[in-house]
Formats: sequence, structure tokens, C-alpha cells
Amino acid sequence: MTAERYDVLIVGGGHAGAAAAIALRQEKFAGTIAIVSAEPELPYERPPLSKEYLAGEKSFERLLIRPASFWAERGIDLHLGEGVVAVDAAAQAVRTDAGRTVGYGELIWATGGAPRRLTCDGHHLHGVHAVRTRADVDRLLDELAQAQRVVVVGGGYIGLEAAAALTKFGKAVTLVEALDRVLARVAGEPLSRFYEAEHRARGVRIMLGATVACIEGDERVGGVRLANGTLLPADVVIVGIGIVPAVAPLEAAGAAVGNGVRVDARCRTSLPHVHAIGDCAAHANRYADGATIRLESVQNANDQATTAARDIVGRGADYDAVPWFWSNQYDLKLQTVGLSAGFEHAVVRGIPAERRFSVVYLRGGRVVAIDAVNATKDYVQGRALVAGGARLSVAALEDASRPLKEIAAEG
Ligand code: FAD
Repeated sequence: MTAERYDVLIVGGGHAGAAAAIALRQEKFAGTIAIVSAEPELPYERPPLSKEYLAGEKSFERLLIRPASFWAERGIDLHLGEGVVAVDAAAQAVRTDAGRTVGYGELIWATGGAPRRLTCDGHHLHGVHAVRTRADVDRLLDELAQAQRVVVVGGGYIGLEAAAALTKFGKAVTLVEALDRVLARVAGEPLSRFYEAEHRARGVRIMLGATVACIEGDERVGGVRLANGTLLPADVVIVGIGIVPAVAPLEAAGAAVGNGVRVDARCRTSLPHVHAIGDCAAHANRYADGATIRLESVQNANDQATTAARDIVGRGADYDAVPWFWSNQYDLKLQTVGLSAGFEHAVVRGIPAERRFSVVYLRGGRVVAIDAVNATKDYVQGRALVAGGARLSVAALEDASRPLKEIAAEG
């Protein structure tokens, strides 16, 4: 019996894995392709999980990246509900948790990450949830009907979006953040304070500088105990404190790792014939001044997928895409372009209280990122400024009556 083998084997059927298969066919790659993915679902969009899907506004079918028929029509085999547990780079083969060995010509590792868990006492109790997969959210939704008090641990985008969705159900939501403001790792203070005020105005209790000591309860969660002794009664707890990149099999195979698997500008790992893309790939990013980072965004998953696919078909170009991201909370549409980390100035354009404004971030005198809230014009015009590293003055940027492109034209 001949062992199963594909010309390109993609591990992970999320945004990056699906996009890589699609890009390969768009690049006229004629070889065999398969996706092996631990989740039992067809590839689907993850962002709505903490937004419209959690709020009951979008069915799962509307989350599918492509209809079921697409994959067969394009000759892309799907092995769903099957995880890769080992990689043999010399033999160019993987082993799955179903006990199968599958060979590859090229391997694309697109496994994303597992939600970071709390490690304190009680973290395993029933009623403690992550929001990463459809199954996570379905389990959460099952319990929400019976729940009134919800504690969200983590004031990043996922925690805030979940809090916004749950207020629509009339739940009493408390959000606990260890740092002194929400979104502290990804945005400047003006944006953090704006979102804190918006959530509070809708009844979300926000507790800053608050660390979780343990989750209390017998089999089921009863409350969240903070380090200062406060007990927050809870029927359900949602933990949104980041992810741990899923790279253990690659690491065991000898790939260079460090906050994800290391890749070069073509998304190649240190192992021959193995690319890595998406949330799990640590790469040197021009928009982070060349620092090695992981980006957790649909943009990065899609663009790295294209980079890897083109490299495989021999039309490679270095990854150089402008980072962008979005977040929807209530009727607020946040669009972000660039990376603000390490900024020296955060210039507010417009009046946050009017719920339409943007924050322009400068580093070394250059525009490095823009957060635009209900301000699509600034986002659209700001892309070119971020891409080109425009040098603009704080005073000029502060004048929100002038469009960004006009300010840029004057230099
Ligand atoms: P994933 O989409 O996580 O896919 C990885 C897949 O690989 C999973 O199906 C996993 O089960 C599978 N897998 C893991 N290990 C193995 C293995 N060993 N073998 C086989 N399969 C494996 N980004 C935005 O830009 N905007 C947003 O508004 C936004 N909102 C988000 C909201 C939520 C709730 C979440 C969770 C993420 C959000 N993101 C958002 C981030 C975005 O969804 C991710 O950046 C994107 O999904 C990354 O794609 P990926 O393919 O790298 O990983």
C-alpha cells in the first residue's frame, strides 16, 4: 500500500490555512493539496465569534470562508477533526492523532494558537470559557441562557467585544483587567479611556489593575476572587488573555522557535520545505522597525498565506504588507492600520465624546499607526501615510477639520 502524500500539505484550516490553499490554486498550482485541521468545521471566519455569532446575529453557515462545494471543486482535500502530532522533516511526513502518516512535498504550518488559560486554582471549573473556536462559543451560549452574572477576564479586543455582545442579552457584565487601562498592549491611552467610558455607559463594570487570585466554586464556577480579596459572583467566566502559539510538533522536529515559529521574509521556517503562516509565525516586521513579532489578525493570516503560496510556486516576494485590524463593539467601528507599539505621540483628531475620532501615532516623527473610531476617512487616507512613514507635525494632525491627505500633501 502506498502511503498517503500531498504535494502541499497544510496543517490548520483556519484563516491562514484556508487562504494558503486558495492562493495556491489562484497561482495555478496544479499539484495535490490537503488541509489537515483539528477542528471538525469547514474553514470559517473567527472574528464574528466574539461579535455577531456570540450576539446571535449571524448563523454559523454565514461564517464559512467558502461554501462546502468549493474545496472539492478546487481539488483541495480536507481532513477535518484530525490534529498533527509530529513532523518528520527528513522524511517529509507528518503523523496525526488518528494514527495516520501523511507525506508532503511542501508543508505549510498554519495552526494559530490555543487560548491562554488561567493557571490559578479553579481555572478548570465548569462555567469557565475561552472564545477561540466555534465549539467554545457554542458551549458558552448553551450556558448563557441560565446565567445572569458574567465576569470577563482580560481587557483586550476579545474581552471587550464579548462584553459588548453580552450586554445585548441584558447580562450583568464585569470586566477585569490586570493593567491600569484596557487595550494597554495595542493602543494609546485616549483609545483605552474612550472604550472604558463607552462600556461603563452601557452598564459594564470595569475593574482596572485587578488580578485574579482564583476561581471559586465546587464543580461549577461561583465567583472570581481578586488578589485584593474582592469576590465577584459569577455564573459564567470568559477568559480572554491571549494565545499560546501551537508549534510544539514543529519545535520537536527541530524548527527554530521563540514566541511562535521563526520564519523569514518568505514565511520559510528553519526546516527545509516547511513554511509557517498566521498567528503562529514569528517574523521580522518592517512596521515594527524590524522587530520579530507575531501578528494576530486576518490581514496577516491572508497576506502571509499569499507570501508562502507564491514562494512555493516560484514567484516569491518578501512579506511587506501594511498591518490592519478592526474591532466592532456596540455601534462603534474601530479600524486600525499600522503598529503603534513604542509610539512617542498619540494625537487625537476629533472629539471622542462625539463618537467619531481617530488617534494618530508617531514614532521618530513618522506616522506609524492610526486607530479610527467611526472615522473611515482617516483610516483610508491614513494607510498611505503609514505605508510611506510620513513625517507630519503634531500641530497639523490635531486639526481634524483638515483631511489627512491634505495635511500630508503639504508635508
Ligand atoms: P486560526 O484561525 O486559529 O486557525 C488555526 C487552525 O489550526 C485551527 O482550526 C486549529 O484547530 C488548527 N490546529 C491547531 N493545531 C493543529 C494541529 N496540530 N494539527 C491540525 N490542526 C491544528 N482578527 C482581525 O483582524 N479582526 C478581528 O476583529 C478579529 N477578531 C477576533 C475575534 C476572536 C474571537 C478571535 C479568536 C480572533 C479574532 N481575530 C481578529 C484574529 C484572527 O481571527 C486570527 O488572527 C486568525 O484566525 C489567524 O488565523 P490562523 O489561521 O493563523 O489561526
